[in-house]
Amino acid sequence: MRDRHVWPAGVYFFYYHDVSSNNIVPGYVRTSLKRFETEVEYIKTHFEIIRFCPAIEYLKTESLDKRYAVLCFDDGYTGAVENALPLLELKGIPAILFLSGSFVRQRRVSEAVSVDFITRNWSSEKIVKVFPGYNKTESFRSFAKRGSSFRQFEYFHDILGEKLLKERIFANEKMIRNLNSDIFTLGNHTVNHLWLPNLTASETEMEIRINHEYLSTFQGYENFLAIPYGSNDSFNTTTLLYIHDYSSDVLVKAVGGIKHKTEGDTLFIERIGLSDRKPPIHLLIRERLRKSSVCNRAVRFGYNYMLKAARKLLNQSAL
Ligand SMILES: [Zn+2]
Repeated sequence: MRDRHVWPAGVYFFYYHDVSSNNIVPGYVRTSLKRFETEVEYIKTHFEIIRFCPAIEYLKTESLDKRYAVLCFDDGYTGAVENALPLLELKGIPAILFLSGSFVRQRRVSEAVSVDFITRNWSSEKIVKVFPGYNKTESFRSFAKRGSSFRQFEYFHDILGEKLLKERIFANEKMIRNLNSDIFTLGNHTVNHLWLPNLTASETEMEIRINHEYLSTFQGYENFLAIPYGSNDSFNTTTLLYIHDYSSDVLVKAVGGIKHKTEGDTLFIERIGLSDRKPPIHLLIRERLRKSSVCNRAVRFGYNYMLKAARKLLNQSAL
């Protein structure tokens, strides 16, 4: 019988956030340890799990005929470091952690954590009172994402910072320095994890460069940046300017699929996100592969259509 789990050759980047049952962490970024164990077994069985850096080299230089997987952990949650990494270390499975310096230094928590806390614990009247610009026509999460800025970030910190920092949601510097650098590598996720398109060019440069300089003091740091939020609109041309210097010409996104592509000098990496809220891993992979091929077909169709229209116009004007 044909094995339905034989996936097309390529490099599959999977990413997790927290691995715990800590309910102060937003549910949509949490994976239970049990589920994580099952998924790692699945990935190990169906892919060759490799480190991030060689995966990039393969993509840049070789045509692939095997199925590789890379495991990533974003944001540096305590649960990922305390629960998931010991399990991987025991099995000798490598992974990369994309970290934000202000979380590692226990100076700030992410916007996502503050927003989730507010959404779950505050009445909408209270939210409107504290955030007068919020008018309830959209979710508070999308309002906060749209308004992401240093000013808003500091406002969240003034309101909730002291309370949420006590929860040790993010792994601290000591925990990160203690990681086995033979197995675990570190990557850049900007200092404060803000929505980069809202920042000025110099703010963007600082968010990327300062985190790069800070993480360079850790063993196992590699010059790669995963863009906060990871969507196709979470970066702009200014961001791309710094990808050459601070990310080896690689931009790591989070939009499912395995169709990594090169545009100009930049290699864009897609990643498949996993959490308790996602479908079982084999269904998720199937869905992501189908979506990216439909998307590619749509792009090709649009391109061919434009080409035909342009040719028609040219012919007409030649007549
Ligand atoms: Zn992130």
